[in-house]
Amino acid sequence: MDCLFCKIIAGEIPSAKVFENDSVYAFRDIAPQAPVHILVVPKAHITSADAVCAENSAYVAKIFEAIPEIAKNEGLTNGYRVITNCGEDACQTVKHLHFHILGGKQLQGQMG
Ligand code: AMP
Ligand code: ZN
Repeated sequence: MDCLFCKIIAGEIPSAKVFENDSVYAFRDIAPQAPVHILVVPKAHITSADAVCAENSAYVAKIFEAIPEIAKNEGLTNGYRVITNCGEDACQTVKHLHFHILGGKQLQGQMG
């Protein structure tokens, strides 16, 4: 499958990994928008939040179990933002579900 994040998970494209388990892979965003900018992805190809359903939602639970652990490892004790862009109107550029963790500075209220 011609999916950038599937290739990253498979190790075919290099990434700066920060976390991995059976269901979840996390790595540093190549174009960071904050001092800490990490992408957390399921190890199954789910195209976006809009494709989450009863059959694959366990991956989302696993991602949200990993997020506090990643945040702790990154020293984000003062808070952080978790974002997923879904579809064209949200400017989703990679069609493999991913959650951005942004932190390490006071973030502004840029919600749209
Ligand atoms: P989105 O716009 O929500 O689809 O986010 C896609 C993100 O993937 C962007 O923040 C990009 O900077 C990031 N990205 C694209 N290619 C790579 C890559 N090879 N390694 C790490 N992050 C990437
Ligand atoms: Zn994929």
